Amino acid sequence: MRLILLGPPGAGKGTQAQRLVEKFGTPQLSTGDMLRAAVKAETEVGKRAKAVMDAGELVSDAIVNAIVAERIDQADCANGFILDGYPRTLVQADAVGDMLAERGIELDVVIELVVDDKALVGRILKRAEEAEAAGEAVRKDDNAEVFDERLREYYKKTAPLIGYYYAKGLLKNVDGMASMDEVTRQIEAVIEASAKDGKS
Ligand code: AMP
Repeated sequence: MRLILLGPPGAGKGTQAQRLVEKFGTPQLSTGDMLRAAVKAETEVGKRAKAVMDAGELVSDAIVNAIVAERIDQADCANGFILDGYPRTLVQADAVGDMLAERGIELDVVIELVVDDKALVGRILKRAEEAEAAGEAVRKDDNAEVFDERLREYYKKTAPLIGYYYAKGLLKNVDGMASMDEVTRQIEAVIEASAKDGKS
């Protein structure tokens, strides 16, 4: 199973990806998590990415493409992976297409979590509050000001991927405004249908 979860910040991609990891044992490849780990470890990549991430902008395609290319060659990705937060630009979408083609593998499906923008900022603020209450580090970009920029970046650079994958016949929608369990159910139904199509 090789799938992409697509949707704006706060749509629930990370939560749903984790549920799929539990159910299918397929690894979640979150470029946001990988970049945050690089920032924490103060690697060269982390140092270059930090200010961009804090401002809610997108890290360069070259950096994220290199991270993903290295990650998908690791043994745990041999039977598939869930791309969460990647690709986020058309350049990245072409790059992942090339990466997979070079390895003789194909994407099974791209699942768009369709959400109402107005609900998103509330979800992000709730995530920040919950992290704080649990004594965890609050993401620097989980606040109302930076969120606006993240959403703008999404519409400018990531939303065009909806048409891109629709044209390739890979796009499926799920209702991201439904309850978490219902969203999971819809995603699993899409995955099962794509497996029946002989694509998985
Ligand atoms: P996320 O955890 O997916 O919300 O990502 C947090 C931040 O990491 C984003 O706002 C970007 O600054 C950066 N980032 C994550 N994934 C990508 C990507 N595929 N392309 C560019 N920047 C990314």
